[in-house]
Amino acid sequence: MSGDNCIFCKIIEGKIPSRKVYEDDEILAFHDINPSAPIHFLVIPKKHLPMLSDARSEDTQLLGKIMLKIPELAMQEGANPGQTGGFKVLMNNGAEGGQEVYHMHLHVLAGKRVGN
Ligand code: AMP
Ligand code: ZN
Repeated sequence: MSGDNCIFCKIIEGKIPSRKVYEDDEILAFHDINPSAPIHFLVIPKKHLPMLSDARSEDTQLLGKIMLKIPELAMQEGANPGQTGGFKVLMNNGAEGGQEVYHMHLHVLAGKRVGN
């Protein structure tokens, strides 16, 4: 299930290059092309869900898997561990939520104080 002219589906298909952080059969993570922190990558489901608000109960396992993968990937990419370190997880939903690419994605930001 691929979205027509969806840039992130094209990244999944390898038609647009990306700097991969992680990939399995259901998930892809890659560096944001315009990072707003020293560590800034995106985690997406391979399934083309335009927005979080398009997810349904059948996606529960997929969304849970993505959330549980994020701390592991943040550490892998150099986020500092423990309470004094950390990272920020952000998701925009819809135009008024600041979303620009309509393939659901979580931003993971780290490497300086990104929590303000
Ligand atoms: P959002 O506003 O949440 O939809 O964010 C979209 C994000 O995708 C932005 O941070 C962009 O920098 C990022 N982005 C857009 N095109 C690419 C691309 N080809 N490779 C990596 N990141 C991208
Ligand atoms: Zn897509």
